[in-house]
Amino acid sequence: MSVARLPTRADAKPEAAPPMPELPEVETVRRGLAPAMEGQVIARADVRRPDLRWPFPPDMAARLTGARVLRLRRRSKYILADLDTGETLIIHLGMSGRMLVSGVMPGAFHFDHPAPEKHDHVVLDMAGGARVTFNDARRFGAMDLVPTAAAEAHWLLADLGPEPLGNAFNDAYLVARLRGRMTPIKAALLDQRVVAGLGNIYVCEALNRAGISPRRKAGRIAAPRVAGLVPVIRDVLTEAIAAGGSSLRDHRQASGELGYFQHDFRAYGREGAPCRSPGCGGAIRRIVQSGRSTFYCPRCQR
Ligand SMILES: [Zn+2]
Repeated sequence: MSVARLPTRADAKPEAAPPMPELPEVETVRRGLAPAMEGQVIARADVRRPDLRWPFPPDMAARLTGARVLRLRRRSKYILADLDTGETLIIHLGMSGRMLVSGVMPGAFHFDHPAPEKHDHVVLDMAGGARVTFNDARRFGAMDLVPTAAAEAHWLLADLGPEPLGNAFNDAYLVARLRGRMTPIKAALLDQRVVAGLGNIYVCEALNRAGISPRRKAGRIAAPRVAGLVPVIRDVLTEAIAAGGSSLRDHRQASGELGYFQHDFRAYGREGAPCRSPGCGGAIRRIVQSGRSTFYCPRCQR
């Protein structure tokens, strides 16, 4: 049997620079980890190097060993494991981080443990028999341990805007937040202080569906059109999370490539292809904004 490789954007088809995992990918990883970790005691924590992007917290292995994972939650692109020790393990996949699950997953499946790989940096053996391996070739990922009560105040999380799928992200909020902003709407939506967890891919998708040009200045978009972005962003993310969920289910039945990364984008990565907006007839164009590719349809996105 092969290893259950939980998806990250790093598994996407080869490109020069793989896009970073965004909210739906991280949520998919969280959902894949939950049956292996929630309610389980960490029997052994193997921390194989002193750092990833930043140094690990002091005595991380000892602080994790023997702790029970009460729940796994997500804030933006971070996975938070609340432990019964009163601490929370914050996990960031960075650009190339992968989570692998092997061994016994209660009620789910059994995959043999993989041979250790060079970039397996943290290995958690759960008392229930599952093993969780954090592999990160480029080491832009991060882990930290903080008191649970202060987790949301961690410097990585403190300045984040509302969750796009939460109630605080609504018409009134977004209209007020973008009022007067003279940055392009694409840059404004990528600003994690405005809304948390959106990245290049899903901003391109949302703007295409909303018919808004990524170049338009955020503060110059009429309020009703800004308000219309809220349900579009929710839909784009919800659909991607659903696609991630079905990829997890598929993967439990057969080894092989996760279907998730054939997720069908309307704009992202489709330069020159026909726009899919009904009745448009335009073609997707790629431009560079702030050093990153933007895909949009100049005909229907105004
Ligand atoms: Zn179009």
